[in-house]
Amino acid sequence: MAKAQALPLRKDVPVPLTWDLTTVYKNDDAFETDFSFIQDQIKVISQLAGTLENSADALLKATDLYLDLNRKLEKVYVYAQLKNDQDTSENKYQAMFSRVEALAAKFAAAVSWFDPELLKLTETQMKQYYQTAPKLTNYKRLFDQTFKQRGHILSNDVEAVLAGAGDIFSSGEKTFGILDNTDLPFPVVTDDNGNQVQLSQGVYGILLESTNQKVRKQAFQKLYEVYGQFQHTLAATLTTNVKNHNFKATVRNYHSALEAALAANEVPTNVYENLIEVVNKHLDLLHRYVALRKRILNLDELHMYDLYTSLIGKKSPKYSFDQSKKIALEALQVMGPDYVNHVKEAFGNRWIDVVENRYKRSGGYSSGTYDTNPFILLNWKDNLDNLYTLIHETGHSMHSYYATHNQPYQYGDYSIFVAEIASTTNENILTDYLLDKFKDDTAMKKVILNYYLDGFKGTVFRQTQFAEFEQYIHEQDAKGQPLTADFLDKYYKHLNAKYYGDAVISDDEIGLEWSRIPHFYYNFYVYQYATGFAAASTLADGITSGSADHVEKYLNFLKSGSSDTPTNVMKKAGVDMTKPDYLEHAFEIFERRLNEFEKLTETES
Ligand SMILES: [Zn+2]
Repeated sequence: MAKAQALPLRKDVPVPLTWDLTTVYKNDDAFETDFSFIQDQIKVISQLAGTLENSADALLKATDLYLDLNRKLEKVYVYAQLKNDQDTSENKYQAMFSRVEALAAKFAAAVSWFDPELLKLTETQMKQYYQTAPKLTNYKRLFDQTFKQRGHILSNDVEAVLAGAGDIFSSGEKTFGILDNTDLPFPVVTDDNGNQVQLSQGVYGILLESTNQKVRKQAFQKLYEVYGQFQHTLAATLTTNVKNHNFKATVRNYHSALEAALAANEVPTNVYENLIEVVNKHLDLLHRYVALRKRILNLDELHMYDLYTSLIGKKSPKYSFDQSKKIALEALQVMGPDYVNHVKEAFGNRWIDVVENRYKRSGGYSSGTYDTNPFILLNWKDNLDNLYTLIHETGHSMHSYYATHNQPYQYGDYSIFVAEIASTTNENILTDYLLDKFKDDTAMKKVILNYYLDGFKGTVFRQTQFAEFEQYIHEQDAKGQPLTADFLDKYYKHLNAKYYGDAVISDDEIGLEWSRIPHFYYNFYVYQYATGFAAASTLADGITSGSADHVEKYLNFLKSGSSDTPTNVMKKAGVDMTKPDYLEHAFEIFERRLNEFEKLTETES
């Protein structure tokens, strides 16, 4: 509570450190004009139901209106959301945001007929349509994305039943969420300073970074004591979720839940399979890094709760926001003048909401739409982590900028599969820049290498471990294996031991980790963190080598938006994510830096 008292009120934050939302709407009245327009047009678009089979012009008219309304809806949504996020205590914008959410739901209902009607048009009909109304070819890829679902869409009656049962299908996830966020009774534990603190997921993360092993151990044991008591309930909620995915995959004629989930984003399953295979091939590198941890921390026994504390002590270098902007701009010089100029625009023209104020939404993100700047929300603190956050979110914003300025509205966004690539490419460029900048400063070099190695461990190894677990439990359920707590514990403990190797003591508690990971309810989502970071490592390596060709290809990827499938868009950047090479390249970089870190830390002791 003391912390909240010290934060400034929104009205006291210096204007240059806030984002300029008047570039979205001059004032709230301008927002209301668009809001009313959408409200009126929703009635018009719902009346177009049943017209798509009439003529090419009817399809064109409906698609044009659909996209125009969607575009305006996104703009009012972003305005209300950002206004609300900057100060969530302000009633006016809370209300504005709820109104926009209701409007979005109304719009979705008003156009729910569109896809089913489009799917009724045959290939021959579409050919004729494209000839009669050539403007329709601008939307060909958009239509094709829907047509890809042919063969997986069921009869109207069955679709209606599935849609109506949506809430029931998601009950596993919902029950987990309520239990995990609200009902689980976490005990009080001792923190670094000897204070008694209420354990929670957030506090757990902080305590595991403590330099005091006793603090880490107690947090670990107390947390898993709680999950252990509820493991049978948690196995049941996870089972319900897995059965939901497997059931839908079967009725929709997919070979597996994995195939169904990836098809939604047009990603072939070999992207997933390659990841697991190549990461398994290189687990020896993680074993080496973990063994090095044990030596540096000088521990007789290394446990899973010893994997998050810094290897170079407590001190993080301090960087102010102004210094961080300067460093980011210097690091990003390798991207060429065009990219750098747009970053300057972001830094200089109030695209960023910098400081933490009372009731501001926590964390950091990049958000915007086709007709707005790609804004960035931060809660600034002067440390290395925030410098990385700044360059990460700048990567997202530049991706949005290039996509919206080079594609028509319908292709001006990008797939979730490639979303974390632009952001983590920037992080990798920063790492490379800082390692070079501090090449004669051993202490700083160790800080940067430690940051990179821990990031790679958490993003590539850990997320792939999750991905492997997710695939396994879906396959086992499909085979008829009951997913009991005992079965899940045993497999998870085995998997964890395989990933971290012999240097780590396998405590029983870690077998329970599956029970507390919300991502296992996301439906094959986490692998994208790992594939994204690996692709980004490869891209950044090419860009920092100083090759103009690499930069040009990279900018072409940013400019492509969603104009092609995500794997084809990545091919433009020079990375074929359907092949294992980019993963191998990422591990080469990891190994090189691990060697360097080993050398630096061992010559010392
Ligand atoms: Zn991100």
